[in-house]
Amino acid sequence: MVTPWRKNCSATHGLPHKLARTAGKGIARLFLMSLTYATERQVAVAAVRRACALTSSVFNKLVRNETLTKDDKSPVTVGDFSAQAVINTILGRAFPSDAIVGEEDSADLRAPSGEALRSRVVALAHDALTSELEPGEQEAWGIGPAHSHTADELMDAIDRGSHPGGRAGRARASSIRALPRTDSMRRARRAGMWTLDPIDGTKGFLRGEQYAVCLALVVDARVELGVIGCPNLPASSSSSSDAAAPRGCIVVAVRGHGAHQLPLAAPLSAAGTRLAIPTLGAAELSLLESVEKAHAKLSFNARVARVLGVTRPPTRMDSQAKYAALARGDGGVYLRMPTGTGYREKIWDHAPGSVLIEEAGGVVTDSRGQPLDFGLGRTLGENFGVVAAGKEVHSKVLEAIRVAQEEEAREEAQEQKL
Ligand code: AMP
Ligand code: MG
Repeated sequence: MVTPWRKNCSATHGLPHKLARTAGKGIARLFLMSLTYATERQVAVAAVRRACALTSSVFNKLVRNETLTKDDKSPVTVGDFSAQAVINTILGRAFPSDAIVGEEDSADLRAPSGEALRSRVVALAHDALTSELEPGEQEAWGIGPAHSHTADELMDAIDRGSHPGGRAGRARASSIRALPRTDSMRRARRAGMWTLDPIDGTKGFLRGEQYAVCLALVVDARVELGVIGCPNLPASSSSSSDAAAPRGCIVVAVRGHGAHQLPLAAPLSAAGTRLAIPTLGAAELSLLESVEKAHAKLSFNARVARVLGVTRPPTRMDSQAKYAALARGDGGVYLRMPTGTGYREKIWDHAPGSVLIEEAGGVVTDSRGQPLDFGLGRTLGENFGVVAAGKEVHSKVLEAIRVAQEEEAREEAQEQKL
């Protein structure tokens, strides 16, 4: 549903802040709303929150209470599909013109062999969508007890995530004034592109450790909004070693308007606690890195840490919870070096995290210092790893990577001679 304020963007955006001030609070709020993706933020937080409730319940029902074999991926599969069905249904109702680049498609569920899985996914997604409306949630988003969702509708919702990605997207508020005047062209330019990872960090999910529900809005290849739901992340970094400390938070960033952390159960309108990456010295740094060796070259990270003078052990954590931890001051550096298998990083694994870090005052690039390009398709293309850190630390990490690469090349050359 196109929200009225979006229709007004072209009329309000050119006004200077002074006018918004003198015209009273109501107009100022409208003016700011037109620039801050306020509706998108509310819809995205509501969608991620409902998906987090679903994945937590899948974990409690299927992982905690059922006997699973070590390699049993079924809870992840059930959680992934149903969380994507929930989020895509909500996005499809709230922003029907927007594209979605999601990790899953429904082919396996539609196959005759997928019938049992399909009914489980449909039941879970239906329950998550039709639970009572929370304050701030709207029935127009396809949620609440008045709605009913058929299996076909939910399968179609999952498949709404099969967009190929690219540079298409709704025009940014700043360029809406320059849009062509015809309605059809304006509609075409206003379509945005969401990226979705319904369960990022599937291994962490299965271990009962960190995982995240990750959603971002990309417009003209620039990430404007990022929401990361972390059901198992301690509410504060200082309490992370306390098993009884409250867990579960959502981090949200809107380009130009900061990064914030909210409790999972906070009202939709809550602003939350502002996040800022502190400036850390080498003695306070600890590298945030993957748990899974197949996802990042951890031996190279150790080399970089040594060059940087980092003495603390790395903090290993699954999923984009690493970005959330970094944004609130933990660790100081997120380093993800490619393992050399030719794997291409997926845009849904970094879009929400990148805007979060930038809005928390940090920098995100690949290991050569190049910006991540979210307009190339479903992957980041030929990018070479990911480096995220506060501004001062980031440039030091890039330099340390260069030194570590030279060191590694020298050692490899010597080994070949022997
Ligand atoms: P993490 O929890 O940070 O280790 O990252 C989880 C993400 O790693 C998953 O969502 C996958 O999309 C992604 N992934 C899978 N294989 C690889 C790989 N070979 N290199 C880097 N990332 C990968
Ligand atoms: Mg992922």
